[in-house]
Amino acid sequence: MNIALFGPPGAGKGTQAKELSKKYSIPHISTGDILRANVRDGTELGLKAKQYMDKGELVPDEVLIGLIRNRLTGSDCETGYLLDGYPRTIPQADALTDILKEISKPLDAVINIEVSDDELVKRLSGRRSCACGESYHVMFNPPEKDGICNACGADLYQRDDDKEEVIRQRLAVYNEKTKPLINYYDDAGILVNIDGTGVVDAVFADICKVMNQFK
Ligand code: ADP
Ligand code: AMP
Repeated sequence: MNIALFGPPGAGKGTQAKELSKKYSIPHISTGDILRANVRDGTELGLKAKQYMDKGELVPDEVLIGLIRNRLTGSDCETGYLLDGYPRTIPQADALTDILKEISKPLDAVINIEVSDDELVKRLSGRRSCACGESYHVMFNPPEKDGICNACGADLYQRDDDKEEVIRQRLAVYNEKTKPLINYYDDAGILVNIDGTGVVDAVFADICKVMNQFK
């Protein structure tokens, strides 16, 4: 099953992808998580990416295209993949089409999770993240123990780019550079829109209905 979860920052892609990856036994490929791991490890890629991420800008296409090519050719993608946060520009989408042709794994569906801007700001400003990739919300999805990850027990933190002024910039970048991909994949006949405003379990059930068609 070859799926991309699409939507603005804060739509719930990561939250849904964690559970979908378990249910369907396909790897969750979050370019944001991969970049943050590189920032934490102080790699050359991480040092380059950080200057863009801190400002709410996109990391340059050539960096992301190389990264996603490496990741998708990994052996764990043989049974499928679940993309989260890639592609974010038309050149990234074009490169993805080429890579997927080379490995004979074209996308089955691009699932677009729709949430209003006001709700996105609330979700992002209350998000608390864990280095293990889990994310929570102080009101909507709190951890069992305040400030502690349910999955691994580590301390939760607020991402630097989840501060109010960076959130606004990320939403502006989404509208300018990423939103045009909705038409791109609609024209390709593989776009499915999902209402992302319900509770996590309701959104999950709606996404599963789509993914079950490709089992
Ligand atoms: P994305 O990966 O699309 O940027 P996340 O999955 O990290 O978004 O979700 C952003 C924030 O919104 C997190 O704090 C998460 O706990 C919360 N969240 C996710 N889905 C929902 C939902 N359906 N209702 C309310 N809050 C949600
Ligand atoms: P995310 O975790 O998906 O919200 O991504 C966090 C940040 O990582 C973004 O604001 C960008 O700076 C960078 N990033 C993640 N994925 C991409 C991508 N596909 N293209 C460019 N930058 C990306």
